[in-house]
Amino acid sequence: MRDDLPTVSFPTTITVPALGIGTWKMGEDPDKVPDEMSSIRAALECGWSVVDTAEMYGEGGAELVVGAALRGCREKAFVVSKVYPWNASTQGVQDACARSLERLAIDKIDLYLLHWRGDVPLTETVAGMEILRQQDMIGAWGVSNFDVDDMEELFSIPGGENCAANQVLYNAARRGIEFDLLPWCQERSLPVMAYSPLGQGDLLHHKEIIRLSKAYQATPAQIALAFVLERDGVLAIPKTSRPDRIRELSEAVDLEISDEDWAELDRALAPPAAKKPLEMI
Ligand code: NDP
Repeated sequence: MRDDLPTVSFPTTITVPALGIGTWKMGEDPDKVPDEMSSIRAALECGWSVVDTAEMYGEGGAELVVGAALRGCREKAFVVSKVYPWNASTQGVQDACARSLERLAIDKIDLYLLHWRGDVPLTETVAGMEILRQQDMIGAWGVSNFDVDDMEELFSIPGGENCAANQVLYNAARRGIEFDLLPWCQERSLPVMAYSPLGQGDLLHHKEIIRLSKAYQATPAQIALAFVLERDGVLAIPKTSRPDRIRELSEAVDLEISDEDWAELDRALAPPAAKKPLEMI
């Protein structure tokens, strides 16, 4: 187990490694479940801790896979799950959380996120999240796919400042958040969870990522991940269903890319020069 991964701290004073495993597309095909479980276990063995799932993934199937993988090693994991926006009323969020806990076969979700903003007023969702926290069914709550204006609205309502994280699309080819959302979160010490850090695999074929991988004798996936891990307060949650890829991805932490090469990457995959609406998948 590695103890040299960089870390991020949630406002609840919990600190976790800045690398966790995503589980979207897991739990959809029974033939793939053994590999998916092994991959989650391998991530925990490598000290990744954070396991990111959602009631949406495989319509509960991914939570079942996570629950099975955590059997006997729950204490190693920091479990993140998400509620559908249409389940995010004050009562709905409590009911959805209870269902997720049952599928995950655990007593408490460490971080529970509103998956994206829907029609339910934020005051209702926050009230439900706060009840879940008081009942110890969740350790902390946060949001996902919230842009700066959404965050400002959230922080203006009672309890909204208890939001512990924002999970958004972020990778070397999707850098929009660097203009405003990322600094907004960093100023408040609010962790950003970077989803699709490998660009769902597509980024690994980019010319500049391949150039850097050759220059550093690394794999394209390691370079893509190193880009995200370079940012303060950002937690990357790559998904892989292949246990052999966990060690490869872990080694991204050891890469020391020079300032000149980061500047070269900025020329090929430029940071935003103006505000862009938050992109989401
Ligand atoms: P990623 O950027 O993590 O890419 C995953 C893809 O990359 C998979 O096809 C995987 O294949 C492949 N891959 C993984 N490691 C390697 C490697 N070393 N070499 C080559 N290919 C590799 O995409 P995701 O969209 O899955 O994002 C990660 C997680 O973020 C999700 O699983 C989910 O938990 C979360 N998410 C949250 C969203 C939200 O709205 N909050 C939206 C999207 C994602 P294989 O499995 O075969 O290794």
